[in-house]
Amino acid sequence: MSQDICPNCNSPIKNNVFSTNKKLLSTAVDVINAANGTKSSGYCNKCGDELFHTSLSKLRSDIRKLRHHLANSEQSMPIVTIHNPLGWEYEVLGLVTAQSVTGTGIFSEVSMSVSDLLGKESESMSSKMKDAENICLARLRHEATVMGGNAVVGLSLTYAEMGSLRGMIMICCTGTAVIVKNAAHIGYYKQATSDSETAAKKLEQLLLICEPHELD
Ligand SMILES: [Zn+2]
Repeated sequence: MSQDICPNCNSPIKNNVFSTNKKLLSTAVDVINAANGTKSSGYCNKCGDELFHTSLSKLRSDIRKLRHHLANSEQSMPIVTIHNPLGWEYEVLGLVTAQSVTGTGIFSEVSMSVSDLLGKESESMSSKMKDAENICLARLRHEATVMGGNAVVGLSLTYAEMGSLRGMIMICCTGTAVIVKNAAHIGYYKQATSDSETAAKKLEQLLLICEPHELD
């Protein structure tokens, strides 16, 4: 029988009737290393079991924080309709598009018709449109983030009625995702969101692999 020792705590790795101290699965080792910034090549049950579980929850909270950070950065990402904002030095990443479909609802439909007749603005309709617009823009920002961008230029918003009874309205927005290189200089400083995106994806991948068979 081979006599291995744990690379982390130097305990002997044994697997017999009297004593059991196995090596942790490599995915568990990856989780521990990722969560603690360590580079150990392996852990045993003795030193690794508890470490694995605390690392797992740390990893989960790291992911939550990264996602939160991403969402916040996204919300404040500038979107402009012009193509060359003064002073921006940017690199074009590509086209981004997003859609949002909103049902106007039968009651707002009726009140809208009355408002139309009276020549007033339909308030319920306006706020619905505003909500749909915001959803659309949030999706556009997300697309741009995924591409590694920190701003969108050349925004165009279009509205279309869908369905025969004016029941649905579709909002489409298109723009060009860019990465503004002098963002700090022009006061649009945003942390590198694409780095966070990559980090979050990597950690989520790790969780995906190890969660189904947490640990023996
Ligand atoms: Zn050990």
